[in-house]
Amino acid sequence: MTKDMGFATVCVHAGMQAEEVTGAVIPPIFQTSTYMQQEPGVHAGYDYSRADNPTREHYETALAAAEGAEYALSFASGLCAVQALVHQLEPGSHVLVCDDVYGGTGRLFRELYQKYGIEFQFVDMSSVEQVAKWMRPNTRMVWVETPTNPTLKVVDIAGIAELTAVGSALLVVDNTFATPCFQRPLSCGADIVLHSTTKYIGGHSDLIGGAVVMSDANLFERLKFYQFAAGGVPSPFECFLLLRSLKTLDVRMQRHAENAEQVVQFLARRPEVDQIFFPGSVNESQHEVMKRQMSGTSGMISFNLKGDYAKVKKFLQSLEVFTLAESLGGVESLVNHPAKMTHASVPPALREKLGITSQMVRLSVGIESSVDILADLEQAFDRLGT
Ligand SMILES: *Cc1c(COP(=O)(O)O)cnc(C)c1O
Repeated sequence: MTKDMGFATVCVHAGMQAEEVTGAVIPPIFQTSTYMQQEPGVHAGYDYSRADNPTREHYETALAAAEGAEYALSFASGLCAVQALVHQLEPGSHVLVCDDVYGGTGRLFRELYQKYGIEFQFVDMSSVEQVAKWMRPNTRMVWVETPTNPTLKVVDIAGIAELTAVGSALLVVDNTFATPCFQRPLSCGADIVLHSTTKYIGGHSDLIGGAVVMSDANLFERLKFYQFAAGGVPSPFECFLLLRSLKTLDVRMQRHAENAEQVVQFLARRPEVDQIFFPGSVNESQHEVMKRQMSGTSGMISFNLKGDYAKVKKFLQSLEVFTLAESLGGVESLVNHPAKMTHASVPPALREKLGITSQMVRLSVGIESSVDILADLEQAFDRLGT
């Protein structure tokens, strides 16, 4: 496999090597904690699975290749990967965080790390000029999520990268929603890409995982040491599932995007729908940024339903193809009520400022037949009456 091969080819082949002993095409699950040594300290490159495991290596190699990067490190959850990055900071550091960051990330910053003398400032990153004004000499990290959850705003990665390039701040981009299929933050100037692999990378709602991806060797060495020293590693079985999932990332994302496109068109025709949110939908400048840095918009859509919460609840309970559940990015369609579910931990005042009202519904459009997805939405709307 060479570097200039297409994304679908990279997804299928990266990290794959026939196994040496038997020639097995698919790398086995090395379900082992430890490895035999010939004499103390002399071994085949592996001594303990927290440090290194062959199944994990195959998966990390594949994920790095998918992001067009040199290195990837995997963790037991997305938030565990977030922690790995926070642990690179010294007390006294200032971190700029986009105000509509994933609820769990915001909670981790506010509730667990503020007390270690790290200051997290939550700001609206829809204007790069505004972000420039918030930067300080001790700003060590700028934390971007784009598109955001659940309002699907986009942040100009290259614009912010120009700001971080001059100081000593690392630019982190949470690429969970777009995936490398539709967005490559490192090529826009980001230093680190973060994933909750629980979502589209895993893609089947059957595991929890996280990863950080980068091309800088020093950063990789520090984070590799952190992974080993702090120990939040995924199991070999999870790595096997993720390696398997990566092979279909391209086809899954194409179908998620096609189906979501049809759902947006359908929602736009429904009188019950007030406002629809998808990447680039808010205004012209958002649309331009989206066009510049994304090649597709994945399966995430939010919308506001007209009427009170009782009506919203009825709609949610009427859906049959869509399952009412937290999380996103799986092959099956899910629906979520952000204010009461995924974003319940966001401080109420901030929730209001971000426009996460009780009218808002978030869809994670799956890869089912689009006729069934649309028919399900239609029957749920029809049951509301007028
Ligand atoms: C889910 C999610 C996370 C957290 O990941 P977990 O795997 O749940 O720990 C972080 N960022 C985004 C954008 C997410 O959707």
